[in-house]
Amino acid sequence: MDYDVKGNLKKVLANLPQGVRLVAISKYHPNEYIMAAYEEGQRIFGESHEQELRQKVESLPKDIRWHFIGHLQTNKVKYIAPYISMIEAVDSFKLLKEVDRQASKNGRIIDVLLELHIAEEETKYGLTPDSCRQLLADGEWRDLKHVRICGLMMMASYVEDVQQIRSEFQIAKNLFDELKAQYFADDPSFCERSWGMSHDYPIAVDEGSTMVRVGTAIFGPRVY
Ligand SMILES: *Cc1c(COP(=O)(O)O)cnc(C)c1O
Repeated sequence: MDYDVKGNLKKVLANLPQGVRLVAISKYHPNEYIMAAYEEGQRIFGESHEQELRQKVESLPKDIRWHFIGHLQTNKVKYIAPYISMIEAVDSFKLLKEVDRQASKNGRIIDVLLELHIAEEETKYGLTPDSCRQLLADGEWRDLKHVRICGLMMMASYVEDVQQIRSEFQIAKNLFDELKAQYFADDPSFCERSWGMSHDYPIAVDEGSTMVRVGTAIFGPRVY
């Protein structure tokens, strides 16, 4: 192994205050790297492609909790529904409904996060703050008994400007507080703020992240 996964993992963990969890983002990295982190006690891993994830699930320890962090097509939900621990990037009611349907078929309740789009980069994915408000205001989500909305997920802009990154995390945190008060005040499950990646997780932690998604800083650069 040409990368000190165990040492890197320890460094990242040392930077996380109590109450902030690490999702080790293992996409494009081999099982050997995942096992090195596993041997250090890491149990939550994140992947963004359904087929790659399926292969890893089949060959790795069963007590790993897998988070799906990528864009998920509705026709792929059925493949991950039997085992996925959390789907982090739900960005439409249509997808939420399909997760509910497949969770029901599997006799499960699946934890999800709503993905926000706040960063300046052009992307088709993620809910703007207003469309996120609208999704919840519509109220249909309350009929979905097999999904549990556990909070919000977002990616900040990939820029050098720390103040910009910080202000994007603040927008997400403010929206979280607003939605918590308006829709989830009595629901302790709505508690997660998934933000922070390799280059910005210390800022994210400062700005109220409860869950950081770190790949490169642990496993090294991805080989696509
Ligand atoms: C790949 C990815 C990460 C991890 O990025 P690093 O820069 O390698 O830490 C985090 N979140 C999402 C949504 C990703 O796709």
